[in-house]
Amino acid sequence: MQPDLSSGSYTDLLAVLGPDDVLVDQDLRAGYEVDWTRRYTGTCSAVLRPRTTAQVAEVLRICATHQVAVIPQGGNTGLVGGSVPRAHSHGPVVVLSTRGLSDLGPVDSDAMQVTVGAGVTLAAWRNAARAAGVDAPLDFAARDSATIGGAIATNAGGSRVVRYGTMRSQVVGIEAVTITGEIVGSLAGLPKETVGPHLPSVLAGSEGTLAVITRARLRLVPRFSHTITALVSLDSLAAAVQMLGRVRAGLGSLDSVELILPGAMELVSAHLGRRPPVAKGSAYVMIECADHVDPTDDLLAVLSTLDGPEGGVVDTAVTTEGPSRDQLMEFRDRITEAINAAGVPYKLDVAVPVAGLPALVEIAEQAAVTYGGRLIPFGHLAEGNLHLNYLEAGDPAAIAELVLTAVAAAGGTISAEHGVGVAKGPWLRLVRSSAELAVMAAMRSAWDPTGLLNPGVLSPVSSVAD
Ligand SMILES: Cc1cc2nc3c(=O)[nH]c(=O)nc-3n(C[C@H](O)[C@H](O)[C@H](O)COP(=O)(O)OP(=O)(O)OC[C@H]3O[C@@H](n4cnc5c(N)ncnc54)[C@H](O)[C@@H]3O)c2cc1C
Repeated sequence: MQPDLSSGSYTDLLAVLGPDDVLVDQDLRAGYEVDWTRRYTGTCSAVLRPRTTAQVAEVLRICATHQVAVIPQGGNTGLVGGSVPRAHSHGPVVVLSTRGLSDLGPVDSDAMQVTVGAGVTLAAWRNAARAAGVDAPLDFAARDSATIGGAIATNAGGSRVVRYGTMRSQVVGIEAVTITGEIVGSLAGLPKETVGPHLPSVLAGSEGTLAVITRARLRLVPRFSHTITALVSLDSLAAAVQMLGRVRAGLGSLDSVELILPGAMELVSAHLGRRPPVAKGSAYVMIECADHVDPTDDLLAVLSTLDGPEGGVVDTAVTTEGPSRDQLMEFRDRITEAINAAGVPYKLDVAVPVAGLPALVEIAEQAAVTYGGRLIPFGHLAEGNLHLNYLEAGDPAAIAELVLTAVAAAGGTISAEHGVGVAKGPWLRLVRSSAELAVMAAMRSAWDPTGLLNPGVLSPVSSVAD
């Protein structure tokens, strides 16, 4: 099949990648053209699958010469429509899949670092670390598909942020390719370097608009021999927020503090065909502690201070590592999957200072009542990060306007960890001043003067809400 590309660019791309890695048939392209939620979809001229940094550089040079737009794609688990072609693209567009950049270097146990290709999954990073007796500092439910490149490009978060920070904090070296095919960055992994802007930080959260990330040098952390997980039901979200302060102050081994609100607990329980092992509450918090010595007593001691009407704890279930922990974790890990099984969600990923969470949930519920939709809320309690999922959303743009305006007024952010993609562009104005947007645009055009990298993403003008 002849793609919708000039014959010159098609021939040049075939010469670099070979026919197996230039996918033009509709059947072969299909999986790359629709996002994980099935909300965002479009058509590309071809899917390109380079296997080396040198091939990425050649491919981008060809695209720049022939003015072909490039959409970088990793595991395609992103939730804001940034990894797939736009519905109304102009001119030729290719998806550049980085999954073939899957080299995994040896673990450097002295430096506690490893160099990985951008297409390596989070699970493969973690498995390699664990095989060497250490661990990866970042984890979330899409671990088997989400890639290192995608996690850096979205500055991904997940459950361990309370202990180790977001993906930005894990990158001690980066290699990336500009649209003109220049290879930039360093993989030396120097924890300290003050020579102008820090390239990994510049590219973290850039969502494929500045360069294509090809490799990264990543930090590793200790592998703890004892992990304990507790599911706590509470009589209010305010009690959950109050508990957060106590567990943060009292537990040096704290690894994650996740929040599940009743709508999400009901949905995931039905999806799993199991009830949660605690009595019904108005909020559920999953706490995980990990250490070289058993942290059970410390965790139970902190939880015991919260028993009774003042602490708001209704019930608690505690488990150590093994099948019972895996089963408990599923109540948090499989919520996104349960939502997708129930329909095509409209997703908002926001954060506010933690004290503002109860008020935010009220507004989110009001948005569902006013504009239609069933709210499924859950998130990462320690970061004040709520995932507000609306099933059967009546008017997504109106929901977003109401909720995101309230979030901004509360000093929060319209995107905590998923990025802006094409989903949040119109609301960038709520959290970035016009001077800041002008600086962002200038930076983008310095990297990519003709705007070929991920057009429409991270843009305040050309986005869609639904
Ligand atoms: C079940 C489930 C649970 C999730 N849980 C979380 C969570 O807890 N925390 C969280 O932060 N996210 C979560 N996500 C969202 C998603 O997994 C993350 O955004 C992830 O970082 C995306 O990685 P990816 O490889 O799939 O990237 P993609 O979806 O392929 O791409 C995401 C963005 O990054 C860009 N990009 C990808 N690779 C590169 C590259 N090599 N160079 C430059 N740009 C690139 C793309 O253009 C796009 O803009 C979840 C998703 C699912 C489906």
